[in-house]
Amino acid sequence: MATAFSNAVALSRLLIVLACSGEVWYDAWRAGPPCGENAQFPTKERSTMPVPTQEQYIKMLNTAKEKGYAYPAVNVTTIEVINGALKAFAEAKSDGIIQISLGGGQFASGTAVKDSATGAIVLAEAVHRLAEKYDVLVALHTDHCQADKIDSFLRPLIAESKKRIAEGKGPLFNSHMLDASALPMAENLKISKQMLKECAEVGIVLEIEIGVVGGEEDGVDNSGQHAAKLYTSPEDMLLTYETLDGLGEFMLAATFGNVHGVYKPGAVKLEPKILRDGQKAVMDKHGKDMRLVFHGGSGSDLCDIREAISYGVVKMNIDTDTQYAFSKPIVLHMCQNIDGMLKVDGEVGNKKVYDPRSYLKKGEQGICDRLKVATSDLLSEGKTLFGKI
Ligand SMILES: [Zn+2]
Repeated sequence: MATAFSNAVALSRLLIVLACSGEVWYDAWRAGPPCGENAQFPTKERSTMPVPTQEQYIKMLNTAKEKGYAYPAVNVTTIEVINGALKAFAEAKSDGIIQISLGGGQFASGTAVKDSATGAIVLAEAVHRLAEKYDVLVALHTDHCQADKIDSFLRPLIAESKKRIAEGKGPLFNSHMLDASALPMAENLKISKQMLKECAEVGIVLEIEIGVVGGEEDGVDNSGQHAAKLYTSPEDMLLTYETLDGLGEFMLAATFGNVHGVYKPGAVKLEPKILRDGQKAVMDKHGKDMRLVFHGGSGSDLCDIREAISYGVVKMNIDTDTQYAFSKPIVLHMCQNIDGMLKVDGEVGNKKVYDPRSYLKKGEQGICDRLKVATSDLLSEGKTLFGKI
Protein backbone atom coordinates (compact mmCIF):
# COMPACT_ATOMS: atom_id res chain seq x y z
CA MET A 1 0.00 0.00 0.00
CA ALA A 2 2.83 2.35 0.97
CA THR A 3 4.51 1.67 -2.37
CA ALA A 4 1.28 2.25 -4.28
CA PHE A 5 0.81 5.50 -2.41
CA SER A 6 4.33 6.77 -3.13
CA ASN A 7 3.86 5.83 -6.77
CA ALA A 8 0.64 7.88 -6.83
CA VAL A 9 2.47 10.85 -5.27
CA ALA A 10 5.32 10.57 -7.78
CA LEU A 11 2.85 10.31 -10.66
CA SER A 12 0.88 13.29 -9.44
CA ARG A 13 4.05 15.40 -9.29
CA LEU A 14 4.99 14.35 -12.80
CA LEU A 15 1.50 15.32 -13.99
CA ILE A 16 1.83 18.78 -12.44
CA VAL A 17 5.12 19.36 -14.27
CA LEU A 18 3.64 18.17 -17.57
CA ALA A 19 0.43 20.14 -17.22
CA CYS A 20 2.24 23.30 -16.23
CA SER A 21 5.05 23.20 -18.79
CA GLY A 22 2.78 22.61 -21.78
CA GLU A 23 0.01 25.03 -21.09
CA VAL A 24 1.08 27.93 -18.93
CA TRP A 25 2.37 29.95 -21.86
CA TYR A 26 -0.86 29.42 -23.76
CA ASP A 27 -3.07 30.28 -20.78
CA ALA A 28 -1.06 33.40 -20.03
CA TRP A 29 -1.22 34.49 -23.63
CA ARG A 30 -4.96 33.99 -23.95
CA ALA A 31 -6.17 35.08 -20.51
CA GLY A 32 -6.83 38.75 -19.92
CA PRO A 33 -6.25 40.45 -16.55
CA PRO A 34 -6.81 38.07 -13.64
CA CYS A 35 -10.30 37.74 -12.21
CA GLY A 36 -10.87 39.74 -9.05
CA GLU A 37 -10.23 43.11 -10.67
CA ASN A 38 -12.97 45.49 -11.70
CA ALA A 39 -15.88 43.25 -10.73
CA GLN A 40 -19.02 45.15 -9.81
CA PHE A 41 -21.17 44.01 -6.95
CA PRO A 42 -24.09 46.44 -6.57
CA THR A 43 -25.90 46.55 -3.28
CA LYS A 44 -28.56 49.19 -3.95
CA GLU A 45 -32.14 48.68 -5.06
CA ARG A 46 -32.08 48.41 -8.86
CA SER A 47 -34.34 49.12 -11.78
CA THR A 48 -32.55 46.98 -14.39
CA MET A 49 -32.33 43.26 -13.76
CA PRO A 50 -29.46 41.23 -15.20
CA VAL A 51 -31.63 38.53 -16.78
CA PRO A 52 -33.00 40.59 -19.66
CA THR A 53 -36.64 41.11 -20.51
CA GLN A 54 -37.62 39.64 -23.88
CA GLU A 55 -37.48 43.09 -25.44
CA GLN A 56 -33.98 43.62 -24.04
CA TYR A 57 -32.90 40.17 -25.22
CA ILE A 58 -33.96 40.89 -28.81
CA LYS A 59 -32.07 44.19 -28.59
CA MET A 60 -28.99 42.35 -27.29
CA LEU A 61 -29.08 39.93 -30.23
CA ASN A 62 -29.78 42.61 -32.82
CA THR A 63 -27.11 44.97 -31.47
CA ALA A 64 -24.52 42.19 -31.58
CA LYS A 65 -25.45 41.46 -35.19
CA GLU A 66 -25.33 45.12 -36.24
CA LYS A 67 -22.10 45.89 -34.42
CA GLY A 68 -20.29 42.66 -35.33
CA TYR A 69 -19.86 40.75 -32.11
CA ALA A 70 -21.32 37.59 -30.54
CA TYR A 71 -22.20 36.36 -27.06
CA PRO A 72 -20.48 33.43 -25.42
CA ALA A 73 -23.13 30.87 -24.46
CA VAL A 74 -21.69 28.72 -21.70
CA ASN A 75 -23.17 25.45 -20.50
CA VAL A 76 -23.68 25.29 -16.75
CA THR A 77 -24.19 22.25 -14.54
CA THR A 78 -23.55 23.47 -11.00
CA ILE A 79 -23.63 26.62 -8.88
CA GLU A 80 -19.82 26.86 -9.11
CA VAL A 81 -19.98 26.94 -12.91
CA ILE A 82 -22.74 29.58 -12.77
CA ASN A 83 -20.71 31.73 -10.39
CA GLY A 84 -17.60 31.42 -12.58
CA ALA A 85 -19.61 32.48 -15.63
CA LEU A 86 -21.25 35.46 -13.92
CA LYS A 87 -17.90 36.61 -12.55
CA ALA A 88 -16.34 36.39 -16.03
CA PHE A 89 -19.12 38.38 -17.72
CA ALA A 90 -19.02 41.05 -15.00
CA GLU A 91 -15.25 41.43 -15.08
CA ALA A 92 -15.16 41.50 -18.88
CA LYS A 93 -18.09 43.96 -18.86
CA SER A 94 -19.66 41.66 -21.43
CA ASP A 95 -23.24 40.49 -21.66
CA GLY A 96 -23.59 36.78 -22.15
CA ILE A 97 -25.75 33.70 -22.27
CA ILE A 98 -25.94 30.90 -19.73
CA GLN A 99 -27.38 27.67 -21.06
CA ILE A 100 -28.47 24.33 -19.73
CA SER A 101 -28.49 21.08 -21.66
CA LEU A 102 -30.75 18.10 -21.06
CA GLY A 103 -27.80 16.27 -19.52
CA GLY A 104 -26.86 19.32 -17.43
CA GLY A 105 -30.41 19.57 -16.11
CA GLN A 106 -30.53 15.87 -15.37
CA PHE A 107 -27.21 16.10 -13.51
CA ALA A 108 -28.35 19.12 -11.50
CA SER A 109 -31.52 17.32 -10.38
CA GLY A 110 -29.40 14.72 -8.60
CA THR A 111 -28.51 11.12 -9.39
CA ALA A 112 -31.65 9.89 -7.62
CA VAL A 113 -34.11 12.15 -9.48
CA LYS A 114 -32.44 12.44 -12.91
CA ASP A 115 -35.05 14.78 -14.37
CA SER A 116 -33.74 17.24 -16.97
CA ALA A 117 -36.56 19.77 -16.63
CA THR A 118 -36.38 19.84 -12.81
CA GLY A 119 -32.62 20.45 -12.82
CA ALA A 120 -32.89 23.08 -15.55
CA ILE A 121 -35.52 24.97 -13.54
CA VAL A 122 -33.36 24.88 -10.41
CA LEU A 123 -30.26 26.13 -12.24
CA ALA A 124 -32.22 28.85 -14.05
CA GLU A 125 -33.81 30.07 -10.80
CA ALA A 126 -30.31 30.16 -9.29
CA VAL A 127 -29.07 32.29 -12.19
CA HIS A 128 -31.98 34.73 -11.75
CA ARG A 129 -31.07 35.19 -8.07
CA LEU A 130 -27.27 35.14 -8.30
CA ALA A 131 -27.14 37.46 -11.31
CA GLU A 132 -28.83 40.20 -9.24
CA LYS A 133 -25.39 40.89 -7.77
CA TYR A 134 -23.86 41.88 -11.11
CA ASP A 135 -24.16 44.74 -13.58
CA VAL A 136 -24.29 42.89 -16.90
CA LEU A 137 -27.09 41.27 -18.88
CA VAL A 138 -27.13 37.48 -18.70
CA ALA A 139 -29.70 35.67 -20.80
CA LEU A 140 -30.91 32.15 -20.03
CA HIS A 141 -31.16 29.49 -22.72
CA THR A 142 -31.54 25.74 -23.04
CA ASP A 143 -29.29 23.70 -25.33
CA HIS A 144 -30.07 20.88 -27.83
CA CYS A 145 -33.51 19.38 -27.23
CA GLN A 146 -34.22 16.53 -29.62
CA ALA A 147 -37.74 16.16 -31.03
CA ASP A 148 -38.56 13.18 -28.79
CA LYS A 149 -37.71 15.22 -25.67
CA ILE A 150 -40.09 18.12 -26.36
CA ASP A 151 -42.79 16.84 -24.01
CA SER A 152 -40.44 15.99 -21.16
CA PHE A 153 -38.19 19.07 -21.42
CA LEU A 154 -39.25 22.00 -23.60
CA ARG A 155 -42.96 22.05 -22.84
CA PRO A 156 -42.56 21.81 -19.02
CA LEU A 157 -40.05 24.69 -19.21
CA ILE A 158 -42.37 26.80 -21.36
CA ALA A 159 -45.15 26.07 -18.83
CA GLU A 160 -42.84 27.27 -16.05
CA SER A 161 -42.27 30.52 -17.97
CA LYS A 162 -46.02 30.96 -18.39
CA LYS A 163 -46.45 30.58 -14.64
CA ARG A 164 -43.86 33.28 -13.98
CA ILE A 165 -45.45 35.62 -16.54
CA ALA A 166 -48.82 35.16 -14.81
CA GLU A 167 -47.08 36.32 -11.61
CA GLY A 168 -45.90 39.49 -13.38
CA LYS A 169 -42.30 38.26 -13.84
CA GLY A 170 -40.34 37.60 -17.04
CA PRO A 171 -40.13 34.10 -18.52
CA LEU A 172 -37.78 31.62 -16.82
CA PHE A 173 -35.74 31.25 -20.02
CA ASN A 174 -35.15 33.85 -22.71
CA SER A 175 -34.68 31.24 -25.40
CA HIS A 176 -34.78 27.51 -26.04
CA MET A 177 -33.13 25.33 -28.63
CA LEU A 178 -35.04 22.71 -30.55
CA ASP A 179 -32.75 20.34 -32.38
CA ALA A 180 -34.76 18.23 -34.78
CA SER A 181 -31.80 18.05 -37.17
CA ALA A 182 -31.65 14.25 -36.98
CA LEU A 183 -34.95 14.16 -38.89
CA PRO A 184 -35.40 14.81 -42.63
CA MET A 185 -35.45 18.55 -43.42
CA ALA A 186 -39.22 18.78 -44.07
CA GLU A 187 -40.04 17.09 -40.78
CA ASN A 188 -37.45 19.17 -38.94
CA LEU A 189 -38.99 22.40 -40.24
CA LYS A 190 -42.53 21.23 -39.45
CA ILE A 191 -41.64 20.61 -35.79
CA SER A 192 -39.53 23.77 -35.64
CA LYS A 193 -42.48 25.79 -36.92
CA GLN A 194 -44.79 24.30 -34.28
CA MET A 195 -42.34 24.98 -31.44
CA LEU A 196 -41.62 28.50 -32.70
CA LYS A 197 -45.35 29.25 -32.44
CA GLU A 198 -45.48 27.85 -28.89
CA CYS A 199 -42.41 29.86 -27.83
CA ALA A 200 -43.65 33.03 -29.53
CA GLU A 201 -46.86 32.91 -27.47
CA VAL A 202 -44.71 33.44 -24.38
CA GLY A 203 -42.28 35.80 -26.11
CA ILE A 204 -39.47 33.25 -25.99
CA VAL A 205 -36.87 33.11 -28.78
CA LEU A 206 -36.36 29.69 -30.43
CA GLU A 207 -33.06 28.42 -31.76
CA ILE A 208 -33.31 25.66 -34.34
CA GLU A 209 -30.72 23.56 -36.12
CA ILE A 210 -30.40 22.43 -39.72
CA GLY A 211 -27.56 20.21 -40.88
CA VAL A 212 -25.81 18.24 -38.16
CA VAL A 213 -23.13 19.33 -35.69
CA GLY A 214 -20.51 16.58 -35.69
CA GLY A 215 -18.78 14.99 -32.71
CA GLU A 216 -20.32 13.89 -29.42
CA GLU A 217 -22.02 15.97 -26.75
CA ASP A 218 -24.40 15.30 -23.93
CA GLY A 219 -24.62 11.61 -24.86
CA VAL A 220 -25.62 12.31 -28.50
CA ASP A 221 -22.97 10.97 -30.86
CA ASN A 222 -22.92 12.35 -34.41
CA SER A 223 -19.36 11.32 -35.17
CA GLY A 224 -20.56 8.78 -37.78
CA GLN A 225 -22.63 11.33 -39.76
CA HIS A 226 -22.10 11.69 -43.48
CA ALA A 227 -19.72 14.60 -44.13
CA ALA A 228 -22.24 16.41 -46.39
CA LYS A 229 -24.68 16.78 -43.49
CA LEU A 230 -22.05 18.76 -41.58
CA TYR A 231 -22.35 21.59 -44.14
CA THR A 232 -25.69 23.39 -44.58
CA SER A 233 -26.70 24.35 -48.12
CA PRO A 234 -27.87 27.89 -49.08
CA GLU A 235 -31.14 26.29 -50.30
CA ASP A 236 -31.80 24.86 -46.84
CA MET A 237 -31.07 28.20 -45.19
CA LEU A 238 -33.44 29.92 -47.58
CA LEU A 239 -36.15 27.33 -46.98
CA THR A 240 -35.71 27.74 -43.21
CA TYR A 241 -36.13 31.50 -43.44
CA GLU A 242 -39.20 31.20 -45.64
CA THR A 243 -40.79 28.62 -43.33
CA LEU A 244 -40.20 30.47 -40.06
CA ASP A 245 -40.17 34.17 -40.91
CA GLY A 246 -43.04 36.06 -39.30
CA LEU A 247 -43.98 33.30 -36.84
CA GLY A 248 -41.77 34.50 -33.98
CA GLU A 249 -38.21 35.40 -33.06
CA PHE A 250 -35.68 32.73 -33.94
CA MET A 251 -31.99 32.00 -34.32
CA LEU A 252 -30.50 29.41 -36.63
CA ALA A 253 -27.71 26.97 -35.93
CA ALA A 254 -26.61 26.30 -39.50
CA THR A 255 -23.69 23.90 -39.68
CA PHE A 256 -20.44 24.68 -41.44
CA GLY A 257 -18.30 21.71 -40.46
CA ASN A 258 -18.48 22.45 -36.75
CA VAL A 259 -18.21 19.66 -34.21
CA HIS A 260 -18.78 19.29 -30.51
CA GLY A 261 -15.58 18.64 -28.61
CA VAL A 262 -11.96 19.61 -29.14
CA TYR A 263 -9.75 17.84 -31.66
CA LYS A 264 -6.15 17.95 -32.73
CA PRO A 265 -5.24 20.66 -35.27
CA GLY A 266 -6.38 19.78 -38.80
CA ALA A 267 -9.06 17.27 -37.75
CA VAL A 268 -11.92 19.76 -38.10
CA LYS A 269 -12.45 21.71 -41.30
CA LEU A 270 -14.60 24.76 -40.67
CA GLU A 271 -16.06 26.52 -43.70
CA PRO A 272 -17.58 29.78 -42.41
CA LYS A 273 -18.22 30.84 -46.01
CA ILE A 274 -21.12 28.37 -45.98
CA LEU A 275 -22.83 30.86 -43.65
CA ARG A 276 -22.01 33.76 -45.96
CA ASP A 277 -23.51 31.96 -48.97
CA GLY A 278 -26.68 30.99 -47.09
CA GLN A 279 -27.16 34.51 -45.72
CA LYS A 280 -26.64 35.94 -49.20
CA ALA A 281 -29.31 33.65 -50.66
CA VAL A 282 -31.81 34.91 -48.06
CA MET A 283 -30.75 38.54 -48.39
CA ASP A 284 -30.92 38.51 -52.21
CA LYS A 285 -34.48 37.21 -52.17
CA HIS A 286 -35.94 38.84 -49.06
CA GLY A 287 -33.71 41.82 -48.20
CA LYS A 288 -33.06 40.41 -44.71
CA ASP A 289 -30.88 37.72 -43.22
CA MET A 290 -30.84 35.66 -40.01
CA ARG A 291 -29.27 35.58 -36.55
CA LEU A 292 -26.91 32.62 -36.55
CA VAL A 293 -25.49 30.39 -33.82
CA PHE A 294 -22.06 28.75 -33.82
CA HIS A 295 -22.08 25.36 -32.10
CA GLY A 296 -18.92 23.60 -30.99
CA GLY A 297 -16.97 26.84 -30.49
CA SER A 298 -14.39 25.15 -28.24
CA GLY A 299 -10.99 24.74 -29.81
CA SER A 300 -11.88 26.86 -32.88
CA ASP A 301 -9.33 29.13 -34.53
CA LEU A 302 -9.80 32.80 -33.81
CA CYS A 303 -9.87 33.62 -37.53
CA ASP A 304 -12.77 31.17 -38.10
CA ILE A 305 -14.65 32.62 -35.11
CA ARG A 306 -14.23 36.18 -36.34
CA GLU A 307 -15.16 35.27 -39.89
CA ALA A 308 -18.32 33.49 -38.69
CA ILE A 309 -19.27 36.61 -36.67
CA SER A 310 -18.92 38.71 -39.82
CA TYR A 311 -21.67 36.57 -41.43
CA GLY A 312 -24.20 37.11 -38.65
CA VAL A 313 -23.24 34.73 -35.81
CA VAL A 314 -24.53 36.32 -32.58
CA LYS A 315 -24.09 33.40 -30.18
CA MET A 316 -21.25 30.93 -29.87
CA ASN A 317 -21.62 27.88 -27.68
CA ILE A 318 -18.70 26.97 -25.51
CA ASP A 319 -18.71 23.90 -23.32
CA THR A 320 -15.73 21.59 -23.86
CA ASP A 321 -13.14 24.34 -23.25
CA THR A 322 -14.88 25.57 -20.10
CA GLN A 323 -15.29 21.99 -18.85
CA TYR A 324 -11.53 21.59 -19.17
CA ALA A 325 -10.90 25.01 -17.61
CA PHE A 326 -12.96 23.91 -14.60
CA SER A 327 -11.35 20.50 -14.21
CA LYS A 328 -7.71 21.35 -14.78
CA PRO A 329 -7.10 23.39 -11.58
CA ILE A 330 -8.97 20.70 -9.64
CA VAL A 331 -6.65 18.01 -10.99
CA LEU A 332 -3.66 20.15 -10.05
CA HIS A 333 -5.11 20.67 -6.57
CA MET A 334 -5.52 16.91 -6.14
CA CYS A 335 -1.99 16.23 -7.36
CA GLN A 336 -0.38 18.96 -5.31
CA ASN A 337 -2.23 17.95 -2.16
CA ILE A 338 -2.42 14.22 -2.58
CA ASP A 339 -0.81 13.58 0.84
CA GLY A 340 -3.72 15.43 2.49
CA MET A 341 -6.53 14.33 0.16
CA LEU A 342 -6.47 10.68 1.16
CA LYS A 343 -6.36 8.89 4.46
CA VAL A 344 -3.65 6.31 3.91
CA ASP A 345 -1.63 4.13 6.28
CA GLY A 346 -3.44 5.30 9.43
CA GLU A 347 -3.00 9.00 8.54
CA VAL A 348 -6.00 11.37 8.82
CA GLY A 349 -5.57 13.51 5.70
CA ASN A 350 -5.93 17.28 5.73
CA LYS A 351 -9.43 18.72 6.01
CA LYS A 352 -8.26 22.01 4.51
CA VAL A 353 -7.47 20.35 1.19
CA TYR A 354 -10.25 17.77 0.99
CA ASP A 355 -13.02 20.25 1.83
CA PRO A 356 -14.71 20.41 -1.62
CA ARG A 357 -14.81 24.20 -1.44
CA SER A 358 -11.00 24.32 -1.50
CA TYR A 359 -10.88 22.89 -5.03
CA LEU A 360 -14.31 23.81 -6.44
CA LYS A 361 -13.47 27.49 -6.06
CA LYS A 362 -10.38 26.85 -8.18
CA GLY A 363 -12.68 25.32 -10.82
CA GLU A 364 -14.91 28.40 -10.62
CA GLN A 365 -11.85 30.58 -11.22
CA GLY A 366 -10.76 28.37 -14.13
CA ILE A 367 -14.13 28.85 -15.87
CA CYS A 368 -13.96 32.57 -15.20
CA ASP A 369 -10.52 32.93 -16.78
CA ARG A 370 -11.44 30.89 -19.87
CA LEU A 371 -14.75 32.63 -20.42
CA LYS A 372 -13.10 36.04 -20.26
CA VAL A 373 -10.93 34.91 -23.15
CA ALA A 374 -14.13 33.97 -25.02
CA THR A 375 -15.54 37.48 -24.55
CA SER A 376 -12.38 38.85 -26.12
CA ASP A 377 -12.46 36.32 -28.99
CA LEU A 378 -16.12 37.14 -29.66
CA LEU A 379 -15.59 40.92 -29.31
CA SER A 380 -18.33 41.24 -26.67
CA GLU A 381 -15.83 42.40 -24.03
CA GLY A 382 -16.54 45.92 -22.72
CA LYS A 383 -19.82 46.15 -24.65
CA THR A 384 -22.41 45.45 -21.96
CA LEU A 385 -25.79 47.01 -22.65
CA PHE A 386 -26.76 46.83 -18.97
CA GLY A 387 -28.52 50.06 -18.00
CA LYS A 388 -28.46 51.24 -21.63
CA ILE A 389 -31.40 49.32 -23.10
ZN1 LIG B 1 -24.37 22.20 -29.91
